[in-house]
Amino acid sequence: MSDKRIAGPEIERLIQLLAKVPGLGPRSARRAALHMIKKKEQLMAPLAAALTEASEKVTVCSICGNVDTVDPCSICSDPRRDPSLLIVVEDVSDLWALERASVMNARYHVLGGTLSPLDGVGPDDLNIKSLVDRVAAGGITELILAVNATVEGQTTAHYITDQLADFDVRITRLAHGVPVGGELDYLDEGTLSAALRARTQF
Ligand code: ZN
Repeated sequence: MSDKRIAGPEIERLIQLLAKVPGLGPRSARRAALHMIKKKEQLMAPLAAALTEASEKVTVCSICGNVDTVDPCSICSDPRRDPSLLIVVEDVSDLWALERASVMNARYHVLGGTLSPLDGVGPDDLNIKSLVDRVAAGGITELILAVNATVEGQTTAHYITDQLADFDVRITRLAHGVPVGGELDYLDEGTLSAALRARTQF
């Protein structure tokens, strides 16, 4: 009964593809497809055009690994960015999150993942050599390791720190602790102990 068709093959295919988008499942995909069909002129046609244009133009920045429609990306070629400050992230989604917070006027380096021996991900699978090359080229005085607070993230951070031991660059990492608006009672012990260790003068 679950493979009973509800619409023609074109609509079925649309639903199947939408269901592969993170955050959507089959139910949300059907709702999204139906919504687009109802808003054909205002939403479906412009979305199709935007998807086509993006898929034709999207490229990976040869300097930092960011995605953009130009290479070097808009961030790497922005002269207002502080060239001495480099933020290392695991994924483009982390870069976007930091840009949304817009606290640092820095440039980035996207690793493309984390070291994970169990999954067969080694240093050569990540953009680590290009990171070392960027630091070796000079001009960068601080490297902020904005990796996730996971075992893999921290392992990757230690590996990078080792690789850069011979360079005159200050390596910092994100503080771990109580989220803004967070209640202590709801925090796990790891977060609480990290927050205590990273306490600051009141
Ligand atoms: Zn770039």
